[in-house]
Amino acid sequence: MTKSHPDLSDIVATIGRDMGAHLGGGKVADYIPALARVDPRRFGMAVIGCDGQTAETGDAWMPFSIQSISKVFTLTMALERLGDDLWKRVGREPSGSRFNSIVQLEHEQGIPRNPFINAGAIVVTDALLAGRPPAEGVAEIRDFMRRRADTETLDVDPEVVSSEAATGFRNQSLASFMRGFGNLHSPVDEVLEVYFNQCAVRITCRQLARAGLFLANAGKDPINGDVVTTSKRARRIAAVMMTCGHYDASGEFAFHVGLPGKSGVGGGILAIVPGKAAVAVWSPGLDEAGTSYVGAMALKRLAAATRWSVF
Ligand code: GLU
Repeated sequence: MTKSHPDLSDIVATIGRDMGAHLGGGKVADYIPALARVDPRRFGMAVIGCDGQTAETGDAWMPFSIQSISKVFTLTMALERLGDDLWKRVGREPSGSRFNSIVQLEHEQGIPRNPFINAGAIVVTDALLAGRPPAEGVAEIRDFMRRRADTETLDVDPEVVSSEAATGFRNQSLASFMRGFGNLHSPVDEVLEVYFNQCAVRITCRQLARAGLFLANAGKDPINGDVVTTSKRARRIAAVMMTCGHYDASGEFAFHVGLPGKSGVGGGILAIVPGKAAVAVWSPGLDEAGTSYVGAMALKRLAAATRWSVF
């Protein structure tokens, strides 16, 4: 890691040890049956610096379900494809509501508050799909993720896809509602097929931190040189992560951790340290808002020890 943080490996190792006392805290998501079977005592953390150096602890190499963290990557792809026109179909204000809430959509004419609540992410996926067959959209997202994570082995877990499809009544409602307002262009089942697949990508902390690194480095992958997005967009994506990345607990995360982040109900969190590093944590037990309980605790410790909070 950089010279200003010579002891990062020690910090991460200490966090790994300290989290031992908290393992099993929180509640594993059970509304998607395939996620409910994950061992709640798992914990992993990986930090990758913009200079390529890494520090990791625990189950950093164990794959988990990316879930809503995929929304960061589809937002990046859709902004590249559509530019600022995307913001005509989805807002960028915190919702203050749960991830799968439908209440605001009625008042706001089917335009979701932000791209990270489920409704917003479904619109982003529809924008990306742009009327093509779902299999094309799924392959495009998977290939983007593989390139970003620098691995050819990244794939979708078919069991999680069918589990989400079998229980996705709320997502079906959100999507149908938005189609009623004309804000979903492809058929509901096609958009949801892509959305469920993107949420079911299996990824490790190590791969996730690697995949998010371009956001810490002004839109450019510092390791392979890919220009993934412009620095302005990278800044804006990070801003939306800060304000909306944890649903109705985004304020809490900013308060305690002070880094742009995105959680997923699989128990993963991606956090960005602008100009310095990308961090991924995973522990399956969730707090009430659907953010990893031990994962958020570990990030709070990391931000305190490194003084990486942006505030
Ligand atoms: N696939 C999940 C859903 O749509 C994602 C939710 C999350 O990770 O917060 O219900």
